[in-house]
Amino acid sequence: MKIFLYGIREDEKNYLKEWTDVHPEVTIAYTDQFLSTETAELAKNYNGVVTLQMQPYSREALQNLHDFGINKISVRNVGLDGFDFQDLRDLGFSLTNVPVYSPNAIAEHTTSLILRLLRRVPEFDKKFNNADYSWFPTIGEEINGKTVGIVGTGHIGSVVARIMQAMGAKVIAYDIKPNPYLENLGVYVDSLDEIFKQADIITLHTPLAKKDVHMIDADAIAKMKDGVVIINAARGGLIDTEALIAGLDSGKIGGAGLDVLESENDVFQKKFNSLDDVKDPQFKALINRDNVIITPHTAFYTTTAVHNMVFDSLTDNLNMLEGRKPKYPVDLSEE
Ligand code: NAD
Repeated sequence: MKIFLYGIREDEKNYLKEWTDVHPEVTIAYTDQFLSTETAELAKNYNGVVTLQMQPYSREALQNLHDFGINKISVRNVGLDGFDFQDLRDLGFSLTNVPVYSPNAIAEHTTSLILRLLRRVPEFDKKFNNADYSWFPTIGEEINGKTVGIVGTGHIGSVVARIMQAMGAKVIAYDIKPNPYLENLGVYVDSLDEIFKQADIITLHTPLAKKDVHMIDADAIAKMKDGVVIINAARGGLIDTEALIAGLDSGKIGGAGLDVLESENDVFQKKFNSLDDVKDPQFKALINRDNVIITPHTAFYTTTAVHNMVFDSLTDNLNMLEGRKPKYPVDLSEE
């Protein structure tokens, strides 16, 4: 079997070698370029394709793969936003993704955002860089004893719940489909409003369904406790960024830890010469605050996660090619 991979980064190459060491019967080749109408040609004479990209997959690119006899695509991450499922159905493709590659990576990152905000690390870093090694007045807060509100308790949110409980927080959670393990611990409240009302720290771990765009808007923020800390390592669109900025300006929001932003595609994964070159006004309105920490969608980015993304996508592509049931099939009838 022969599999072609698109969008391969330097840090993925070791895991490609590890995978082919386990599957010497499979030939792989790769490019750092994304799958497009032009680059589809590279996969000619291969049986399957593995990809990862943020921008849309054009119908022409898929048509070209189809014309080369390729009909199995595996995506190395969760997101399927780039695909038009109708195109995939029309052209007879089967698709897999990697919906779970390391929930701990994102849960630990979430925890680090909370800790860094509560212990005022950006302010201490600034002082330290100016040879100011004094404590006062940069006093921190503890997670122990705080009420942490978790919205969405799937793979990631449930790990955040365990970590927060281990650190002594009172965990409350809201999920449209509560998970039995956490239900037994009695953490669920009946509504988002109850999370807004009770939580000192609110952390979001839901997908971005259309109905959940701007789940955190001005009305929601108005219902929150004064000084609330908001963490978003889920999807940028869950928060109305203008409302967040207004909440930070007024002091209603005490801190924000953001690994995802509504307009992140304009900024993240890009290297600028200086902040002056970044044009996104919302990013600029957030970046220079002592009580805001932004990370460029790196919550997932650990060696464990990258290993699993490479291994699971390649293995599932091979599973499909050899007629076995893949671990993570995507139901193309859904959209
Ligand atoms: P998951 O599907 O395992 O869990 C999501 C949970 O949210 C489910 O239990 C679901 O019932 C619940 N839910 C859905 N809509 C809800 C709503 N309106 N209110 C309350 N609960 C709701 O997903 P996951 O793997 O835990 O991922 C969670 C989020 O993290 C996703 O948005 C995903 O895209 C994001 N993510 C971010 C990174 C990163 O690097 N920052 C990496 C991976 C995943």
